[in-house]
Amino acid sequence: LLQLYGPLNFLGSVYSAIRTALVDLEHMLGLTEEEVEVADPVHPLSIATRLQVSAPARVAFRDVHFGYRPEREILHGISFEVAPGRKVAIVGTTGAGKSTISRLLFRFYDVWSGAVMVDGHDVRDYRQADLRAAIGVVPQDTVLFNESIGYNIAYGRLGATPAEVQQAAQLAQIHDFIMSLPEGYETQVGERGLKLSGGEKQRVAIARTILKDPRVLVLDEATSALDTHTEKEIQAALKTVSARRTTLVIAHRLSTIVDADEILVMADGYIVERGTHAALLAQNAVYASMWAAQGGESGQEA
Ligand code: ATP
Repeated sequence: LLQLYGPLNFLGSVYSAIRTALVDLEHMLGLTEEEVEVADPVHPLSIATRLQVSAPARVAFRDVHFGYRPEREILHGISFEVAPGRKVAIVGTTGAGKSTISRLLFRFYDVWSGAVMVDGHDVRDYRQADLRAAIGVVPQDTVLFNESIGYNIAYGRLGATPAEVQQAAQLAQIHDFIMSLPEGYETQVGERGLKLSGGEKQRVAIARTILKDPRVLVLDEATSALDTHTEKEIQAALKTVSARRTTLVIAHRLSTIVDADEILVMADGYIVERGTHAALLAQNAVYASMWAAQGGESGQEA
């Protein structure tokens, strides 16, 4: 029995790590425990998950109709494409359907009609676990576990070496902060440990995602404003993680997406305007008035 204890204990901690990661993903996407019922295909296609071993992915929505309840359609025919390594941003009023798009990309729900495609195939053709391994999220608000800060970063990819964890922390601009803590990477964080600020938590999330190295990145920008200095550091870290990676940004501050290849402006489940920042300003309609409301040019300093 004693001989069994070691492996069982190990399995127990792997199980709890996987559970925690799943809970975190659900939390990130604002999901509750309800109704998540999608089935794996009988003969799943394989999909490369890490950018290091494959090219950036291609993501496409083709005339997607979807609602959470049969009586209420939320997305009314959404089509767009994110070419490999490119960045598309979604902006719009609250309740417009922005987060719903990211949930469909992860296939937490199936579309009513149309299709969500990754690498030219319907997401329903992949195993869910593989699909979710290929996509990383930097959420609005990161859950920290009552573990060391090193562990909190490392579970971006279970099995990463301490050197890889440290490198990810450096790229996410959180390494120096960690080294200033009395116990460095061993410092306990979470409810029963050190409380991190919103900006520090976000950098932990970025470090996790750098370690995970997904081929598609979803950035769910925080609504709450950070101070200018922190914001600059976060933006620099996000640039690192999104460089050459297919990226979908759910944006609240327009200043962070002026460089997007395409901006989709959503209202009530429709894309009402689309184009580059410059083209949308020239249209002088919805986006242009949002830009003006956020302080126009001075918004770039925010
Ligand atoms: P915000 O900027 O406020 O986060 P959003 O554009 O991301 O808004 P979504 O979260 O995609 O909006 O929600 C779109 C619509 O779908 C809203 O009307 C919302 O009430 C509804 N909705 C979201 N999640 C569910 C759910 N689990 N069950 C039923 N309706 C939902």
